[in-house]
Amino acid sequence: MRPFAYERTNDLVQAAHAGFQTGAGQTDADTQFLAGGTTLIDLMKLDVLTPRRVVDLNPLTAQHSAIEVTASGLRLGAMARMSAVADTPDVARDYPVIAQSLDLAASAQIRNMASLGGNVLQRTRCPYYRDPSWTACNKRHPGSGCSALEGVNVNHAVLGTDKSCISQYPGDFAVALVALGAQVELLGPDGPRVIAFDTLHRGPEGKPHIETTLKPGELITAFQVPAGAWTRRSLYLKIRNRQSYEFAISSAAVALDLDGGVVRAARIGLGGMAYRPWRSKEAEAVLTGKPLTEANAEAAARAALAGAVTHGGNAYKPELARRTLVRALLQTAAMEA
Ligand code: FAD
Ligand code: SF4
Repeated sequence: MRPFAYERTNDLVQAAHAGFQTGAGQTDADTQFLAGGTTLIDLMKLDVLTPRRVVDLNPLTAQHSAIEVTASGLRLGAMARMSAVADTPDVARDYPVIAQSLDLAASAQIRNMASLGGNVLQRTRCPYYRDPSWTACNKRHPGSGCSALEGVNVNHAVLGTDKSCISQYPGDFAVALVALGAQVELLGPDGPRVIAFDTLHRGPEGKPHIETTLKPGELITAFQVPAGAWTRRSLYLKIRNRQSYEFAISSAAVALDLDGGVVRAARIGLGGMAYRPWRSKEAEAVLTGKPLTEANAEAAARAALAGAVTHGGNAYKPELARRTLVRALLQTAAMEA
């Protein structure tokens, strides 16, 4: 780990200005914000993130960790801890997909430390990104190439990639947020704004080191999940190599509004498959207005993976994703809501 300046702040506007001066918000930013530290400190120890300044947001926890369930939806402060949200009975009852995506992530210790804001901004687990002895990694070193294209890519993405980077977005919570059409509240040096969550993460677009659409210094302050007839009948299905303390190799966030057995509306997110949190409007369109049968679920899953591009080691992934989604759809349809 390299020397860095450490600051604590209980003033959000001051934090945003501190970040603005040195370009916080991207992989190569000189300033990083510290929330739970479970991503940031790891990557600083590995010499992947090398900020000159770390601004500790923890004095802001009390002001920005509210968990509010109202008639218009769910609002979650960005400093709320993963475990606090997962353990809130109203969230588990009205938004089970949100509670489960948090509860099935990482370990109990990490969930107690980690914040929601830090969770959605966690970085890829691509082994070449996390090990600077590999010189070719466009995400770590812009323009250096991509070691995974011809290397070990068993866990890499099959959706939303390009030749500059095929890394997979590893988080679970973000998959539930994108499926439910969430919004993100931001505060930056220019003031507050609200954006659609599915515009927060960028595609690689030849510049994978620029990971988000955050402006320099911008902080996430909260997440809003709109209420919908589908949120109670929702679930997060996570497939992983072991049942605990492991990232998804495939996951599905599903929410359904059913009229009898017929789909009035479907919300579908895929995890472990894509470069960024992935919503499949193609699969949603296939299901809308149709009975939720196994055949229709399979048709939706085929539509969701129609654009998949594999690179050798990850050739198994589209079929795994199709099976994950079919199972998630049938389980969600069988729920009492
Ligand atoms: P930090 O490490 O403090 O920050 C992460 C990044 O976000 C930094 O770049 C920081 O500058 C930025 N940041 C933090 N807060 C804000 C804010 N409010 N506004 C703007 N920028 C901000 N996650 C899963 O989803 N599923 C898993 O199965 C899973 N397994 C894991 C297993 C292990 C062994 C580990 C170490 C982690 C695992 N994780 C998993 C990831 C873990 O959930 C994240 O590390 C954690 O959620 C990050 O939150 P944090 O508060 O610690 O972020
Ligand atoms: Fe780097 Fe992306 Fe290639 Fe991994 S997949 S080596 S993160 S450029």
